Amino acid sequence: MSGLFDEADPSEETAFKHAVERVNAEITVLPRSRLSTQIERLSFGDSYHASNKVCQMMREGIAAIFGPQSPEAASHVQSICDAFEIPHIETKWDYKIRKENYLINLYPHPMTLSKAYNDLVEAFNWETYVIIYENNERLYTLQDLIKASAPSTRKAVLKQLPEGDDYRSLLKDILYATDIFNIFIDCSTDKVPEVLKQAQQVGLMTYHYSYIITSLDIHTLDLVDFSYGDINITAYRIVDPDRPEVDAIVKQWNSHISVDNYNSRSHMYGGPYYVYNDILFFLQTETALVYDAVFLFGKALHVLDSSQRIDIKPLNCDSKETWQHGYSIINYMKMVQLQGLTGLIQFNTSGYRTDVQMDVVQLKRDGLRKIGTWDSKFVTKFNWTKQDAEIEAVQDDTIDLKNRTLTVTTIKNDPFLMLKISTEPLTGNEQFEGYTVDLLNELSKELGFKYNIKLVSDGSYGSLNKETGKWNGMIREVIDGEADIAVADLSVNKDRQSALDFTMPFMNLGISILFVEPKFKAPELFSFMNPFAVDVWMYMFYAFFGVSIVLFIIARVSPMEWDCPHPCIEDPDELENQFTLLNSFWFTIGSLMQQGSDIAPKATSTRMMAGIWWFFTLIMVSSYTANLASFLLVQEKDEPIKSLQDLARQDVIKYGCVGTGSTASFFKFSPFPERVVMWKKMEEWNSKSPGILPKDNVAGRDKVLRDEGKYAFFMESTVIEYAVERVCGLYQVGGLLDSKGYGVGMHSPYRQYFNGGILRLQENGILDKLKRKWWKEERKGTGCAAEGGESGVTPLRIANVGGVFVVLVGGCAVAIIFAFVEFFWENRKIATDEGGTVVEEMSKELKFALSCSSNSKPVKKEKKDSLSSQEGNGEPQDSNQYLDLGLDSYGFPNAPPRANGGINQDGYT
Ligand code: GLU
Repeated sequence: MSGLFDEADPSEETAFKHAVERVNAEITVLPRSRLSTQIERLSFGDSYHASNKVCQMMREGIAAIFGPQSPEAASHVQSICDAFEIPHIETKWDYKIRKENYLINLYPHPMTLSKAYNDLVEAFNWETYVIIYENNERLYTLQDLIKASAPSTRKAVLKQLPEGDDYRSLLKDILYATDIFNIFIDCSTDKVPEVLKQAQQVGLMTYHYSYIITSLDIHTLDLVDFSYGDINITAYRIVDPDRPEVDAIVKQWNSHISVDNYNSRSHMYGGPYYVYNDILFFLQTETALVYDAVFLFGKALHVLDSSQRIDIKPLNCDSKETWQHGYSIINYMKMVQLQGLTGLIQFNTSGYRTDVQMDVVQLKRDGLRKIGTWDSKFVTKFNWTKQDAEIEAVQDDTIDLKNRTLTVTTIKNDPFLMLKISTEPLTGNEQFEGYTVDLLNELSKELGFKYNIKLVSDGSYGSLNKETGKWNGMIREVIDGEADIAVADLSVNKDRQSALDFTMPFMNLGISILFVEPKFKAPELFSFMNPFAVDVWMYMFYAFFGVSIVLFIIARVSPMEWDCPHPCIEDPDELENQFTLLNSFWFTIGSLMQQGSDIAPKATSTRMMAGIWWFFTLIMVSSYTANLASFLLVQEKDEPIKSLQDLARQDVIKYGCVGTGSTASFFKFSPFPERVVMWKKMEEWNSKSPGILPKDNVAGRDKVLRDEGKYAFFMESTVIEYAVERVCGLYQVGGLLDSKGYGVGMHSPYRQYFNGGILRLQENGILDKLKRKWWKEERKGTGCAAEGGESGVTPLRIANVGGVFVVLVGGCAVAIIFAFVEFFWENRKIATDEGGTVVEEMSKELKFALSCSSNSKPVKKEKKDSLSSQEGNGEPQDSNQYLDLGLDSYGFPNAPPRANGGINQDGYT
């Protein structure tokens, strides 16, 4: 038998030699023949030497060729084997799926693996996931997974690992994708640790994330760094170390080192290993397959050997001669069955491995643990071992919280943790009170632990210095073991979660803006205009104008509107129309102002026009009145900022947040450039005038009050709610900018207990009770009620209705101007008629008007000569001529003035 092996990796060569030794040693495997080996080492991918070496080995006579590993060299060897009918045995993953007569590959077929991965994703109910793959060839193994995501509800995002060894930007994209928590990694085994390490660096190694890794050799990797984060890392393995055959074989290989050491390592990584030249090797799949392949060959040879004599024949690469037993051996290899290191080995007629069974393994705190098996031949593919939770529960029973005294690190912040007001000197836990203390009391009652409260030494919540990779504040204290748990208003975020374990949130919140309460705006002068928008006023004006014109026109057209000018004339020569242009406007404005006029339309058309106009005015006036009250009473607030964007756009109002908390991280590590710019500004302002980024919320709140409208503070909604309730003049601007929760930070052994405790407190309503107690009841003080003073309806002030007065004064002024123009015009005419001056006439008239001595005044007659020029048709032309007789222009006495003071058609009363 010949083996072509990679000179850089001796593991397969060792397995090959051991396997041949065992086949020769075990008389039952090959009783009538013995295997001898020829081994050649090649550098990876060296096809030329591979072909030469095969020809050289054939000259000496061979029954089968194993290897080589590189796909290019393997193809060359394959064509030689095909030509000379020598069995070729491969044990590596090959996407090309070659179906050659003289080839047999023990590695599970890519399609079998593809189904296995798809089944696992289905079993885990992954709906959205990202597939990280190394190269396009590997996609053959992911076919089912990709196909399944296309038409169904499953959504897969494909991402190729970049060249080089920096995958952080790809991993960060996954971190920022809000809907992806499932990661499928398909890359060569040696790249897996680096990908996982960088995932941990960017914050993807938290218990929110689940991973499936396609490598079948995950047991050969050191995953201790990832085993404490409660991250779901799942993979398949084909070599089951718990099977006695595997154990026995590995122990044989492993005779160089002590059994104790073997057990501990094997337990930690969940994989068997062996020693070669004093170097520890974990049993890789391909190595195990080489071992199995030798046994398979031995078994096939034995079957053939039993029926005929087999001779090894030297062959020459330059001749056409072939080996007559090659075809039979390869066929027997496809027919026989074997229980090997990689489970049951059997093939279908095409020479592909069938009935593959693999273990599903998951990373736990104590290493890889088998959680089930996958079997390609069953309809229900998975057979899960004992539920994970059950196992964990059994393990966690060993961690007993009862009677343990936990050191609790916390921080002062109203109303979470405050110093008790007391005349007595207090010590220990007695010094403190607040929501956190009550929560700890309740949890300690539930879980049976005792606790000592300690204030965090650096007064910080905890932020990560990305350059040094170091934490500060409460997070550091728990990481370094200075405290067992951190209980405070400690927000859970991704970075923190990668450093510590957190319980489920006991309170939900989001970041918002604290600012001084805005003042009320002074009412506008013309606020009576506000019930209608400007365009409505405009349209009303157009409507008024249009309707007046239309009314004028249709009245002139309609015969009914042409009337006898005086009731005493029975057969008039002329008819008169009351809807002059001026009267039409007077009619529409009269009804719009709800006053009416004594112009009454008579024709159907004008009445319809009038009716529809009245309907319009009714609705408009009612709507105006309905809206007016609220516009006059409701006072608008003068808010200089309404959102985060308003703050970002300006530099006059400075802003800040707690410098070492999660709010600072919210800006600092934000994916949105606007927020990062805001953070830079905060840092710059803070370096010039410290206090922009205070140490705690109380300092920030006080600065907001002190700076009166010149400083806004980003604070968590829970604390804003408390501050606004207690301190007058504070106000929350806008809604929440994010959504998160406060959790208890700790190392994972306690998490299960604390989660259970918090859930019980939530279900019993205790968390709500504590919230009410510390936000509404305790330390309430006088509150701001006194300031709110006035309630109910407030009387309108002059500022509210000032505009109406302005309009009145304006209207009066215009009326006076018109009166003066009329007065001047009339007196100018009289002065011209009588030959006096305008000033004389005006002063005479003014004296009479202002003397208020009489309500009647003599009529001024026009001079005769001015009249004579108009006497052409024998009829008087100027109505003034008849005024002194008390007759109108038709020779009838003037109509008496109206008693009701209403507006007559000429507009005189
Ligand atoms: N609760 C925050 C934290 O856990 C501190 C306050 C803040 O950053 O606004 O870091």
